[in-house]
Amino acid sequence: MKQALEVAGVPIAPVQLIAAGTTLREAIALVTRTLTAVGIAGAAGDARIMTAVAAGRRTVDLIAHPEAVLNAAAALRLNEMAHRRVRHEPVSRILGEREFYGRRFEITPATLDPRPDSETLIGAALELLDEAGMRDGAPLRLIDIGTGSGCLIVTLLAELPAATGLATDICPAALAVALRNAERHGVCDRLRLRQCDMLEGMSGRYDLLVSNPPYIPTEEIARLEAAVAAFDPRRALDGGPDGLAAYRRIAGRLSDVLALPPNPAWALFEVGAGQAGDVADILADGGFPGARTWVDLGGHTRCVAVKTLR
Ligand code: GLN
Repeated sequence: MKQALEVAGVPIAPVQLIAAGTTLREAIALVTRTLTAVGIAGAAGDARIMTAVAAGRRTVDLIAHPEAVLNAAAALRLNEMAHRRVRHEPVSRILGEREFYGRRFEITPATLDPRPDSETLIGAALELLDEAGMRDGAPLRLIDIGTGSGCLIVTLLAELPAATGLATDICPAALAVALRNAERHGVCDRLRLRQCDMLEGMSGRYDLLVSNPPYIPTEEIARLEAAVAAFDPRRALDGGPDGLAAYRRIAGRLSDVLALPPNPAWALFEVGAGQAGDVADILADGGFPGARTWVDLGGHTRCVAVKTLR
């Protein structure tokens, strides 16, 4: 059976409907063809994951039991997933889950879909603490500004078992997701959550601040890949006219929240491609010179960090 799929009234592809009784092998082939027809790179991999999830199986079971059949509920689930993927919705959004630094995080429409690039921040933070001899056993106080799914702070708390953390976000629905992710990864007894805009009204001092703030210049949002602009929350992306508004706001308050001498403190930021120099300048103007940078796996400078004591 074929169904014409329409987006804004325009048919874009015939979607092959998967019927109950279809084998896993056939289902994967059908979904792969459908996704390939609309130009989705990696269609076969996506088809395998979605088929496994729809069938309630692990992906290894697809190889072990290719002739197992989908029941009516599983076929319905797979059809829904395939329809969403045909509209270029990312698989992570369809599944409501994304792996980050080796752990699975719930995501919802209220949260940014964590990107592998952001793992650069985790690597940089652990490297800096290692260098200072503060990675093991130090009761570090961490803060994450604009936590979204909580991927950064939950990962850091999981990697640093003696640390405690505060996660902030302007969006209460995102904080609820971050809390569930903290529970899932066993760190919720060491994490507080707080609804606020950037560092507004913040008191207390922290040893390590991380933030992946919105950094896309407003006018560029419309030109992003469909999968970014259409499915990530706009306020997680929009960094104002030049993309740097959030860095300026955080830099202006940084000295109020970082630990005071004789303790060192670090602030680490994710930056957009090409923004590292500007962000380092903003931090230097705010009294934090000497930024260090880290490059992501795509070759872009992705993390800018400053330290209070050198
Ligand atoms: N901290 C979250 C992440 O890195 C959310 C960031 C955001 O929404 N800009 O994915």
